[in-house]
Amino acid sequence: MNIPLWQLKKQMCDIGHRIWLRGFCAGNEGNHSIRIGEDRVLCTPTGISKGFLEPDDLCVVDLEGNQVEANPKGRNRTSEVLVHLAIYKKQPTVRAVIHSHPPHAVAFCLANMPLPEGIHPEAEVFLGRTIFAKYATPGGPDLPASFIDRINEQTTTILMANHGSVSLGADLTDAYYKLEILDNYCKQLILAKQLGQVNVLNDEQMVELLKVKERFGFPDERLGCAAEGCVGPANEAFLTTFGVQPMSACCNGQGDVNRSAATSADGDAAFERMVQTITDQIMAGSPN
Ligand SMILES: [Zn+2]
Repeated sequence: MNIPLWQLKKQMCDIGHRIWLRGFCAGNEGNHSIRIGEDRVLCTPTGISKGFLEPDDLCVVDLEGNQVEANPKGRNRTSEVLVHLAIYKKQPTVRAVIHSHPPHAVAFCLANMPLPEGIHPEAEVFLGRTIFAKYATPGGPDLPASFIDRINEQTTTILMANHGSVSLGADLTDAYYKLEILDNYCKQLILAKQLGQVNVLNDEQMVELLKVKERFGFPDERLGCAAEGCVGPANEAFLTTFGVQPMSACCNGQGDVNRSAATSADGDAAFERMVQTITDQIMAGSPN
């Protein structure tokens, strides 16, 4: 599918506006890009709010970061494009990247806390296992080096310690949805902390969920080992640092009651919601 460049530039501006409206980036923060060719990437310039982008603000670079076309407004490419380029080189299926500072997700970056797993079906299906990268100076060469080796075709999201998020997608809308889902998931976790307990899906429920995910065309490497409890290595840190009790540790076996009740009826409802979400996303992303 060959989308004209003017249309991609318009999409870059529209998504930038959404990012700004949602409060994912303050001031001139953040940057996003689309891979438009074998050795060409369309990216945002440095020093401008993502809420006020115009098509002529956008810059074209090669995979080494050289600006290969004169910008009509004399704009220079974002200094953080090196992160985007490292990802495009490592994983050719990625066609769009958004780096952002979504507040709820950044809270996890500041707390140095990887995201827990096996808690929310939508997060599992659309984000899967996220990468948590140790701190590196923004804009510097060590930043991509802090996570690039761990990226594979299933990677959707990277959290960078004390900094922000990186969302990957098959196109810019896809990457943007990953960003929204990420911040929403983190917000839900922070709200759950206030309630004091979190019900963690058991291995059997995770296997079933990951099978549903696979049927939707999103294979997940954890399916091979979820039955042995490989899912959720980050959960202990989340549950203890947050001071949240897992349901199984709750009084009077209440957690177990809730777990056994969360079988077919809840599963069907979750499945329905997932189908609806995917349908909505496909409709929202389809050209008209
Ligand atoms: Zn940043």
